[in-house]
Amino acid sequence: MGPFDVIIIGGGISGTSLAHYFLRAGLKPCLLEKETSVGGALASQRHEGGFWLEMGAHTAYNSYGNFLSILSERRLIEQLEKRQTSRWMLWDDHRAVSIKGRIGIFELIRSLPSIFWTDKSGLTVEGYYSKILGSNNYRNVGRPMFNAVTSQEAGNIPAAMLFKKRPRDKQVMRSFTLKGGLRSVPEAICAMDGLTVRTGCDVKQIGFREGMFQVTEAAGGVLEAPALALATPADAAAGLLGASFPQLAEKLSKITVREILSIGAVVKKGRVRLPLMAGLVGGDDSFYSMVSRDPVDHPEQRGFTFHFKPDAGREESMETIERILGTPRRDFDHLATRTNRMPSPRPGHGAWVRELDALLAGKSILITGNYFAGLSIEDCVSRSVKEGARWMQRLQAL
Ligand SMILES: Cc1cc2nc3c(=O)[nH]c(=O)nc-3n(C[C@H](O)[C@H](O)[C@H](O)COP(=O)(O)OP(=O)(O)OC[C@H]3O[C@@H](n4cnc5c(N)ncnc54)[C@H](O)[C@@H]3O)c2cc1C
Repeated sequence: MGPFDVIIIGGGISGTSLAHYFLRAGLKPCLLEKETSVGGALASQRHEGGFWLEMGAHTAYNSYGNFLSILSERRLIEQLEKRQTSRWMLWDDHRAVSIKGRIGIFELIRSLPSIFWTDKSGLTVEGYYSKILGSNNYRNVGRPMFNAVTSQEAGNIPAAMLFKKRPRDKQVMRSFTLKGGLRSVPEAICAMDGLTVRTGCDVKQIGFREGMFQVTEAAGGVLEAPALALATPADAAAGLLGASFPQLAEKLSKITVREILSIGAVVKKGRVRLPLMAGLVGGDDSFYSMVSRDPVDHPEQRGFTFHFKPDAGREESMETIERILGTPRRDFDHLATRTNRMPSPRPGHGAWVRELDALLAGKSILITGNYFAGLSIEDCVSRSVKEGARWMQRLQAL
């Protein structure tokens, strides 16, 4: 093993997409991932019989240009699976109801024209969408939906970070996943020649001496490289940089990271009373969202992943799942649990990104993740493209 040109810490889509760009540029990267498999929030859980269920992200779109470029370069386009239904429902008063039916049409007609003169930038999700949907519509429908999308109270997130307008590639289906789920993408990248991947490698410490980074893992091993890329959640990156790069660590520590308990249940068709749907918005219940596997039909089973609000204990969460599905847990074929981690950007986030980038200028440290321009898969890949380009320019200048 080694010598490496760069060590990447974190094997989610941010870290693996960066590895993809480094390999394309002819560099020799080493990727270290704490979990036993790569993917991070692209957490497709595979079960015997070929059934898979997303425990994190579930949908990619034909507007994800940088992500699609990777799929095309990795010859994954033929693995795309169309998502057959995009119908989301709302859990309200003990039943799944239509979201459209909850929208006050007159308020919407009055409010919607303001979309033409209201600038998203500088406004929060609550500020912007209360204007264009109307405040009652925002409260009754918008707020629970944005909470479902971000798996947290979304009202204070800068509006410009969500639902960006990007050009669509009309040759590709509008919304899709991949055979075996979205995790297939980081897995395909990690199978590339020239990339060293170590899973089960929990990095504990980073040092810097004589132009080289020393990366120490929990088991005691130390790796060295002249460049370092952090692709972990912001709080983990802050912890790792604290000893050697306190200014960067201090900046990263400003990003709040939320933990979300996600529980997935696989059940035989016919044992669930819920209608077919892409997902359920939790509304006032104890979960933000339930994401269903229904958009990719399976002949025998259905799957449902619930993303819970904070403080929902494991037992209470299991009871919620039984109640919503109408299925006792003894009838579940499989059950999986995962803790997802999501950033919670606040107003002024754009200035925070500029300040962090100013601290990174001239350093051999790259930082990527879902806490820069936005939270989506495409935002992660776009940040990796940007950081990769910065590093290549620096290499040329050295
Ligand atoms: C429930 C949920 C649903 C979502 N749905 C969608 C969707 O449908 N579409 C969409 O576009 N986006 C969606 N997102 C957002 C998107 O999936 C994430 O923002 C993105 O996958 C984050 O990728 P990442 O690589 O930045 O971070 P992560 O996926 O969190 O990866 C970071 C990795 O770093 C590793 N790590 C941390 N510390 C260490 C350490 N010390 N040593 C080694 N490794 C370490 C972690 O184990 C992890 O694998 C969703 C997110 C969630 C949580």
